[in-house]
Amino acid sequence: MKIRLCGKTPDELVSIAVSEGLPAFAGRQIGEWIYHKRASSLDAMTNLSKAAREKLSEKYEVGIAMPVDVRTSSDGTRKYLFPVDGDPSNAVEAVMIPDGDRKTLCVSSQAGCKMGCKFCMTGRQGFHGSLSVADIISQFLAVDEAEELTGTVFMGMGEPLDNWENVKKTLEILTAPWGFAWSPKRITLSTIGVLPRLKEFLDQSKCHLAVSLHNPYPVERVEMMPVEKAFPTREILDLIRKYDFTGQRRVSFEYTVFKGWNDTPAHAKELSKLLRGLECRVNLIRFHKIPDFPYSPASEAEMTAFRDRLNALGVMATIRASRGEDIYAACGLLAGKHKEK
Ligand code: SF4
Repeated sequence: MKIRLCGKTPDELVSIAVSEGLPAFAGRQIGEWIYHKRASSLDAMTNLSKAAREKLSEKYEVGIAMPVDVRTSSDGTRKYLFPVDGDPSNAVEAVMIPDGDRKTLCVSSQAGCKMGCKFCMTGRQGFHGSLSVADIISQFLAVDEAEELTGTVFMGMGEPLDNWENVKKTLEILTAPWGFAWSPKRITLSTIGVLPRLKEFLDQSKCHLAVSLHNPYPVERVEMMPVEKAFPTREILDLIRKYDFTGQRRVSFEYTVFKGWNDTPAHAKELSKLLRGLECRVNLIRFHKIPDFPYSPASEAEMTAFRDRLNALGVMATIRASRGEDIYAACGLLAGKHKEK
């Protein structure tokens, strides 16, 4: 198997060029071709000599993973399935969500997930490996909207902070001038709060943070999210409170609303107590029904009532529009179907 060049930094590309007897600047040129000019093959890199390209292609390839399936929703949302390490039976999802003139890509960082949240199709599939930087960055390079993306959320399959080294490198590629040169404001990382890595993320990046909360009561949260035992909500919030979210950087909390489980007046009150004094937003998410799960989605009226209650308690809460309902909307559902096939 050839070594993939996408996902490498200029320093790494320079080392590769030098090890192949090429000048160091050839490594930087390769980086420009991949990240600036979006070249998908060594052959396209026409400012490298033909001999250099031939020599490199004996061992290396650009290696952008191409989707094995694409579904388009009636609302324009597109769900892509990407192979992992070239294996189409182990696929992950990336979802392009259009909204006016914005196009946001929701990307996956792992095949499956170790965290085992009960309401999550990805969690139910078990863990099948962390994605390489090449496989994460491929999602940005291979979607049809690659040149039009306005932002990204690390909210797809997997827990990004459980694959922190590769996610960190991807963030570097996305934000560095030699890479995509995106502002960190265009990027949100969503996590259930893997504490030691969360601190590194907060220290080492300026990207926005979203925390999957779903219930303010630890005894209830742990029922659905076993991670509450290892990384309690209180400790996550204590850490977050040490950082400044009053300026450009934002923190939000994801709250999937389950009828009767986490949408009572008591939950709204407890949530407002938990978040008091923190400049943040709560995103209320409609639950997409999944097989063999005891809880149901809250109705529109119940969602609205819960939002209004939170707002009245001083918590800025909004209901996230549901997208791609007709293309296996629940995260991991399409990948799960693909695996079954
Ligand atoms: Fe993993 Fe996120 Fe699913 Fe929990 S919700 S199992 S962290 S992918």
